[in-house]
Amino acid sequence: MSTQFTIPKTQKAAIVEANDQPLKVIDTHPVKQPEELAPGECLVELECSGVCHTDLHAAKGDWPLPAKLPLIGGHEGVGRIVAIGQHTQDSPVKLGDRVGIKWLAYSCLDCEPCRNGLEQSCYNNKLSGFTVDGTFSQYVVSWVSHVTPIPENIDSAEAASILCAGVTVYRAIKYSHTKIGDWIVLPGAGGGLGHLAVQYAVAMGLRVVAVDTGAEKKELVMKLGAEKWVDFKETKDLVGDIRAATGGLGGHAAVVTAATGAAYAQAVDYLRHGGTLMVVGLPARASLSADIFFTVVKSISILGSYVGNRQDAREALDIASRGKVKCHYVLKPLSALTETYEGLEKGAVVGRVVLNMKE
Ligand code: NAD
Ligand code: ZN
Repeated sequence: MSTQFTIPKTQKAAIVEANDQPLKVIDTHPVKQPEELAPGECLVELECSGVCHTDLHAAKGDWPLPAKLPLIGGHEGVGRIVAIGQHTQDSPVKLGDRVGIKWLAYSCLDCEPCRNGLEQSCYNNKLSGFTVDGTFSQYVVSWVSHVTPIPENIDSAEAASILCAGVTVYRAIKYSHTKIGDWIVLPGAGGGLGHLAVQYAVAMGLRVVAVDTGAEKKELVMKLGAEKWVDFKETKDLVGDIRAATGGLGGHAAVVTAATGAAYAQAVDYLRHGGTLMVVGLPARASLSADIFFTVVKSISILGSYVGNRQDAREALDIASRGKVKCHYVLKPLSALTETYEGLEKGAVVGRVVLNMKE
């Protein structure tokens, strides 16, 4: 398919050349041209992209599975389709559509996990900003079957972080075996994923114990509807404080979105009998340890939860587009990516940073 849009030959992009080297922002990175797109691929001109802590893990190469190098990170992008590969059949999207790019750029839709609706765990998947170049650039190549249509009544910068942070916590809460009126504990509540988790939980009728640190994060999460706050740096007894906050018994569920193993350490202890621990935050090379005796006698479920499938993405966006969940973000230029990574490393980012690709 041809295109009515003018596509430049080069673009601005932030490139990781090696895990131990500073990021390079250049304006001469080649743009894949419409005639070079394979069937099923599309070219998206980006307006903005959120910055997820995952992008920092990818840049540092600190996970057991390393990202490709050189790498353009980013997987919370919003923009419009400016070209679709020739001979693409049955595309669900068309030229000019506003779409989102999420972590799962492509899945085969035919392996066993895909057939079971676990597209994110596809054996043949492609991941934006990890196994294929992502959204820290002005143009990105993606797949028509997996870009997410953005509802009209949500601003692009507000939609961006719903595509990873929002979808991830929405799905984790959805599968946390909780019901209206239950207590959910959210370690990492003041961060990108966590502050959206507070809002999805409240929208689902849950009562929130937010766990994070600092006055600014406390103010944000309480404003967003958390009922209780525990500062993990100030508390002398995390388990006791969480139990006290939940009427003595502990949380019905916890969704851990902190990027540190320490945030998991006492989760089984502050969950009540029958409770569920949703494992979401992905600290570098950490393992989960839980007391086996209490996990068994308290009948605790421990479940890994990985982003979401295409349907989760649409549901999470629909809820946000109806005003139930709003990303708290600061808009910055692409050149601010390095300082954003430094902020994430120190735990200094309250909510999200979204990068404006038009600046
Ligand atoms: P973030 O840096 O914005 O937020 C993390 C928050 O955790 C910060 O507010 C920090 O203060 C808080 N924190 C640190 N130690 C804590 C502790 N001991 N107890 C409570 N809170 C603590 O990061 P983010 O973008 O929200 O991402 C968080 C993690 O989730 C990263 O590891 C990321 O890779 C991972 N992630 C996982 C999935 C998935 O599919 N499972 C998807 C996206 C991101
Ligand atoms: Zn992410």
